[in-house]
Amino acid sequence: MTSIGFTCCRTGAGADGDTFGAMKATQSLFSRAAWAAVQKATRVSKRRLLLAFDLDGTLAPIASRPARARVPHATLAWLAKAVQLPDVRVVVVSARPLLDLRRLVPVADVERIAQYGLEGPLAPSAAKRRRFRRAARLIGQRLHQVAAPFRGAFVEQKGLSVAVHHRALSPRRRAALRARLRAVEPEMREHGFETQLGDRVNDFVPVGYDKGRAIRALRARVRPGATIFFGDSAGDEPAFAALAPADVSVCVGSGPTAARYRVRGPRDVARFLSSLVAERMQQPSLRRR
Ligand SMILES: [Mg+2]
Repeated sequence: MTSIGFTCCRTGAGADGDTFGAMKATQSLFSRAAWAAVQKATRVSKRRLLLAFDLDGTLAPIASRPARARVPHATLAWLAKAVQLPDVRVVVVSARPLLDLRRLVPVADVERIAQYGLEGPLAPSAAKRRRFRRAARLIGQRLHQVAAPFRGAFVEQKGLSVAVHHRALSPRRRAALRARLRAVEPEMREHGFETQLGDRVNDFVPVGYDKGRAIRALRARVRPGATIFFGDSAGDEPAFAALAPADVSVCVGSGPTAARYRVRGPRDVARFLSSLVAERMQQPSLRRR
């Protein structure tokens, strides 16, 4: 594993005023110290290693429209190798609906947790699902009105949640739209929904559902020796916060974060996967069955 340098960046408040309680230094994941922590986490040979990834901006580069996003072939190939290692579980945890995750990550044995766990370990009862769907439809109608003046923004109805995408907007227009969306949050609360911020998207999700809760439920089921989670946006911060001290949290990109480590972009996530597979293959007891 070669080092890409020992840079250390300081996190800060986001452009939209988002802040994360514990501001701290993040280290390059490929620094010597960080890689030692990864090795320690991956060498708990008797216990399972849980590898969890956000999708957009993490496994897949952000595309001009969500439908155009693709996970690079090389990344899919490394995921397929990682999932075949003994005692390694690979999971994608995303805001997207399950159908999207099946199309974008067509790798056998990768677990897909969609819509912040609503399609996954936090799946609500049938009665709750009906209530969430009804509320999501009403919220979507209201959000259409809010987004209509912002050309290039669009609303995605995901069934149990709703997204307002604004990838095509200039930073100034995006800030104006996000201010309007903040202004209607009390209405969303009346429907039992709250905001989760992604990269150039505002998601509206039933209160209490976030990636932190999804990761906690997943860890309770998998009972891993260590967890490594990669994510790129504010919506991933609850997952970072849900990790234990020996786990490895990795922010993808330059955004503000409470994660301990950082990589530059999705290409580095593939690089990490290739290094991890090589690392596990070097350990005789952990080689592929
Ligand atoms: Mg993302």
